[in-house]
Amino acid sequence: MSQAANDQTTDAGWITHSPEETFAIATQLGARLRGGEVLLLDGELGAGKTVFVKGLAAALGFDVDEVTSPSFTLVNRYDARLTLYHLDLYRLPDGVGAAHSVDLEELLTDERAVIAIEWGERLGAYPLPAQKTWRINLTGDGDDPRLITLRNE
Ligand code: ADP
Ligand code: MG
Repeated sequence: MSQAANDQTTDAGWITHSPEETFAIATQLGARLRGGEVLLLDGELGAGKTVFVKGLAAALGFDVDEVTSPSFTLVNRYDARLTLYHLDLYRLPDGVGAAHSVDLEELLTDERAVIAIEWGERLGAYPLPAQKTWRINLTGDGDDPRLITLRNE
């Protein structure tokens, strides 16, 4: 990922037809994580954001069965090859308040960590490390295919 961050044509997209396919895309991405990355995951309820984070966690060597949606806990921490912080901002107000509620500033100081944020768009203009921040959008729900796009901030 850090190499891709240096070029300007970093948009990528996939269409998946099952949760397993979405999981597999995420594992490919997860294998390239080196620490310090922020992944902003956007998409409606049921789009597959949590499935995607499970794929990231698997690639980092974490037991996927222990990855659950942090919609109530707000932040889950998984320690494996790197530390993965899994955040969900769904229940929080937009903007800086959301970032403060999850102590994002503190998490960002951990260079051995990857931060995956469901409902990342709720951060608004909160300052993030541009070269290492990726916006992942998932569209589609139910049994429909998902369009997954990846864009460097
Ligand atoms: P979110 O975190 O975005 O609210 P979840 O990952 O919790 O969504 O749930 C996604 C749901 O959609 C799961 O029940 C999953 O089995 C289902 N699903 C069906 N097709 C796909 C797909 N192509 N990719 C991801 N999830 C899918
Ligand atoms: Mg979720």
